[in-house]
Amino acid sequence: MRADAGRKYRAYPTGGQGEVLTRWGHSARALWNVALEQRVYLWEQRRYTLRSVEQCKYLTAARADLDWIGDLPAQSGQQILRQLDRAYDNFWNPEHPARFPSRKKRGHRLSVPFPGQAVEVRKVNRKWAEVRLPKVGWLRFRLSRAIGGTIRNATVSRDGSGWHVSFGVHTGRKPDAPNGKPACGVDFGVAASAFVSTEATPRLMPPSLTANEKKRLKALEQRKARQITYAKKHQGGKYSRRLRTTIAQIARLTTLRANRRRDFTHKLTTDLAKNHGLIGIEDLRVRNMSKSAKGTAESPGKNVRAKAALNRSILDNTPGERRRRLEYKTRMYGSVLVAVPPFHTSQTCAACGLVDPESRKGCGRLFACTRCEHVDDADHNASVEIEARARRTGGSDINSTRSIPRVRVPAVGRRRMREAPRPAHAS
Ligand SMILES: [Zn+2]
Repeated sequence: MRADAGRKYRAYPTGGQGEVLTRWGHSARALWNVALEQRVYLWEQRRYTLRSVEQCKYLTAARADLDWIGDLPAQSGQQILRQLDRAYDNFWNPEHPARFPSRKKRGHRLSVPFPGQAVEVRKVNRKWAEVRLPKVGWLRFRLSRAIGGTIRNATVSRDGSGWHVSFGVHTGRKPDAPNGKPACGVDFGVAASAFVSTEATPRLMPPSLTANEKKRLKALEQRKARQITYAKKHQGGKYSRRLRTTIAQIARLTTLRANRRRDFTHKLTTDLAKNHGLIGIEDLRVRNMSKSAKGTAESPGKNVRAKAALNRSILDNTPGERRRRLEYKTRMYGSVLVAVPPFHTSQTCAACGLVDPESRKGCGRLFACTRCEHVDDADHNASVEIEARARRTGGSDINSTRSIPRVRVPAVGRRRMREAPRPAHAS
């Protein structure tokens, strides 16, 4: 009985609970890093692959010796090691975009995981509920939606906007029957965030920060830089309380920005999946698209700054995340997702099929076919072409052809492991 849905709620720990959870959050982060280091070391020294079942024994021994590990609930520690297993599995899986598991940095989101057996949830009233965590007791959270299933795991986390508790839930929901809605092609662009072939205007993501918020963010970044310089010069690098406040204020803004992007992406993908029977998208590799243009010291890249700006906007529009959401939402709402080869979609005439870069004179927003007089918005033209390609495949569903198997591919050595052989389509 695996978790098939996620639920996230805002949590309100008491002062004492907040202190304990913050401490655990840092211990959890450190434990992840130490466990990762142990696995890398064993592989480098003895070509030995350590998995959580065995690593849990080391954890038990360490709990007796080290106070900070002993302080963290045992079940959380074991859950972290299982998550590390998953991180490795994803990295080894050629169908999965994950890289080698990375170390968790101080100052990033703090989180403490618990297995489902370790927690218990009770409703307080219509709007509030509580979850009982080992050693901390009942933690209140705002019941903004029903949990609607069996809790398989729980995570308490803290980001720039405060504390949250999230649950992996088994709902047992069956996917809908094919919804019989019309087909469409979607061109995820940089300028227009999505152009749907059946629509006349692009769907634009509203700016994720207002002009004032952007200004404030910039000012805060400058203040942070100034305060760090001061700390290095006069305090031996020790962070002042004011500097910490600045950092928290920056985090609040960047979390807000991330939440707004996420909100837009969710609404877009839900709408697409609910209202279309077949959705064609380009089979893009985000990591290649947003690869840095920096190059090496011997052969410095061109247009580094321009590419960096483009990268920011690509990641702003997060096509990889949209695709991931479309994959599970199409499955849920009786739709079919097809990823088509992306070659020359922007240079192909949707009316007559001619491929000619000349049709995109000066790379403007207009497409004008050099053979058949077909004129259209370039992104709309591309979306129609994507839809046509998706129809041609006969609607072979991405969820059946590209399901993510949990395979393990043996890797050789740490360096090789880091730059593991990607499947041919990734290069
Ligand atoms: Zn044409």
